[in-house]
Amino acid sequence: MTIPTRVQIKAAPKVLLHDHLDGGMRPQTVIELAEQQGYTNLPTTDPGELAKWFTRGADRRNLELYLKTFAHTVGVTQTAGALARAAAEAAEDLAEDGVVYAEIRFAPELHTGQGLALDDVVDAVVGGFETGTANAAAAGRRITVGALVTAMRTAARSHEIAELAIRHRDHGVVGFDIAGAEAGFPPSRHLDAFQLAMRENFHITIHAGEAFGLPSIHEALQYCGAERLGHGVRIVDDISFDPDGQPTLGRLAAYVLDRRIPLEMCPTSNVNTGASESYEAHPIRLLRDLKFRVTVNTDNRLMSDVTMTEEFVKSCNAFDWDLADMRWLTINAMKSAFWPFAERLALIDDIIKPGYAELISEAN
Ligand SMILES: [Zn+2]
Repeated sequence: MTIPTRVQIKAAPKVLLHDHLDGGMRPQTVIELAEQQGYTNLPTTDPGELAKWFTRGADRRNLELYLKTFAHTVGVTQTAGALARAAAEAAEDLAEDGVVYAEIRFAPELHTGQGLALDDVVDAVVGGFETGTANAAAAGRRITVGALVTAMRTAARSHEIAELAIRHRDHGVVGFDIAGAEAGFPPSRHLDAFQLAMRENFHITIHAGEAFGLPSIHEALQYCGAERLGHGVRIVDDISFDPDGQPTLGRLAAYVLDRRIPLEMCPTSNVNTGASESYEAHPIRLLRDLKFRVTVNTDNRLMSDVTMTEEFVKSCNAFDWDLADMRWLTINAMKSAFWPFAERLALIDDIIKPGYAELISEAN
């Protein structure tokens, strides 16, 4: 068991399923867009200071406080041009970091403040992903990006947003999600939206088990048709241990394990929001040992000051993971993507497995 170096981790093919567009912008871009649009609410116009401001604001051990920092990134992305730029840069930044497949999510209803129609928001973002993917390819980096359309769980537009997502399914949108404050806003509040997505054979992932516990996970899976869980960390509340340390799984935890439900885990973000006490104590270690289908994700690269490389540097060091662990986690993620099956398989066989084989043979 050798903990991989940062250089090896960056070079390794990585797959990202849980990343928010408005949580991953470049600080310089936030500042430039604010200038262009006459947005005067930024706390500073120095990129380094602004990055620190976001991280400080996010790292307060509370999901609601964490989410407050998004006012500025959302505030400067109210035009098609701004959205397209943010999306293109996200694709380029991820490709540069060695991510070969990403699903990036955004909430169209948050970007209509200056009159953009919901469909225009989706078109701008998907167009931006295409531009960013092409720019990355021109620089010799191959990345595939799918869009996830998110409805705000605290609002009442989820049915309309699910319809929107489905309308764009053949043009870059691969799934539907709900996000925002979790306590007091259970998934079942949006049952009609999820039932529509199910009836249309569309893909569903739900933020559940982050700031609220098992009932949220249960509803997401058994009422709302979630194929994956955003975070899902609180599933550990359904696992108990006997005095010898042997785990016993409750019915829900056993269901998640047996059905291979993917958990989109975001350890750094979970430490920021207080969903986990520390990185070392994060349940992903236990869940990986118990062979749950866990995946490693960034959530919000700007607010949590993290990249996929950095998330793996931290997790490999905290949990003694090696390149074989990284390969397992990456294949887990690729298997769980909402991209068509044949292309998922091709990414696993042609890019991910050979990429890790080369790194592992070089390391030996
Ligand atoms: Zn999230």
